[in-house]
Amino acid sequence: MAKQILVTGGTGFIGSHTVVELQQAGYDVVIVDNLCNSKIETVDNIEKITGIRPQFECFDLTDVEKINAFFKKYTSIEAIIHFAALKAVGESVYKPLEYYRNNLNSLMNLLDCMKTYGVKNLVFSSSCTVYGQPDKLPVTENTPRKPAESPYGNTKAIAEDIMRDYAKANAEIGINCLALRYFNPIGAHPSALIGESPVGIPNNLVPYITQTAAGVREQLSIFGDDYNTPDGTCIRDFINVVDLAKAHVVAIDRLLSKKNKANYEYFNIGTGSGVSVMELVKAFEKSTGVKLNYKIVGRREGDIEKIWADTSLANNELGWKAEATIEDTLLFSWNWEKNCRGIK
Ligand code: NAD
Ligand code: UDP
Repeated sequence: MAKQILVTGGTGFIGSHTVVELQQAGYDVVIVDNLCNSKIETVDNIEKITGIRPQFECFDLTDVEKINAFFKKYTSIEAIIHFAALKAVGESVYKPLEYYRNNLNSLMNLLDCMKTYGVKNLVFSSSCTVYGQPDKLPVTENTPRKPAESPYGNTKAIAEDIMRDYAKANAEIGINCLALRYFNPIGAHPSALIGESPVGIPNNLVPYITQTAAGVREQLSIFGDDYNTPDGTCIRDFINVVDLAKAHVVAIDRLLSKKNKANYEYFNIGTGSGVSVMELVKAFEKSTGVKLNYKIVGRREGDIEKIWADTSLANNELGWKAEATIEDTLLFSWNWEKNCRGIK
């Protein structure tokens, strides 16, 4: 029988792509999402891609009664991938308690249930934000964490600490937690049926680019060209969302086959290469043939100058490697945007 995996936040951007990859790898998936930042139609679109409809339960993971009722109903879950979180960095500065409450209470409720209902394995969405601006590049997992720049970033650092302590305290009963520190996830599924759907004006670079190309936004602002980088714009490690989704399947395989070397582990998930904001804009123009209207403006407060991953640990230990090219990834983002807007 297929092993059952709970995917929280499974109708969201990264979660939906991961559900597809899990199903295609033979897992049986149950999604929990309260749809605060995603749409129920995503379940239909996942089914269109894989031919399998994932089970779906709509509730808020901070609700203790509902989460217990869920685990009483689904008694065959073998592992959890916990994506569900609020993720708008700027908003978290204005609504810190909402972020701490949502992101940390949902995690702690899940950890409580793991013990109560005998679910041993958890994979968690962390972020390269825990490194801040590193002193040395690329960043390895041994690079020291820096104090978070925002309440959102702090929820990731605290969540990692909670999992480390919880896994240690429950080692005897075989609890395992594994955090994946994502760099900058971009792209969409090649089918153009699932992708990223930011609410309102996008904060992130790629949705802003595709919306500008689609004529929804007039002009892309590039935040700063006076950084200490070759072309003066910031550098990031942009990771294709399907490659990222596959890293989750590998992480689940690792935990279920007991190949993990400690009961709390963490891995960088990126491409290993830095791409500047300007290089990304040029790559988008090249691969889509669409000319972008952009201007250089001042720096955005709180931006890190440059960061990219050393992915050796994920490559060697998980046997996972990013594969997609930046051009293909941007083309998939564009195809998704066109599909959403009805552009031919
Ligand atoms: P997303 O907003 O598209 O998906 C998150 C999903 O969680 C949404 O569908 C939302 O409705 C759901 N959700 C939020 N709070 C919930 C709750 N209390 N109960 C039930 N459902 C809830 O975000 P994403 O980009 O897919 O990110 C997934 C995870 O990866 C998040 O934890 C995020 O912090 C982390 N992450 C994202 C990025 C990125 O750039 N996208 C980078 C690093 C880490
Ligand atoms: N960026 C930009 N214009 C935008 C959005 C982002 O120039 O409209 C830049 C931003 O300054 C950063 C990079 O693109 O250098 C990536 O930003 P994003 O918000 O996508 O991710 P972050 O790395 O900040 O989490």
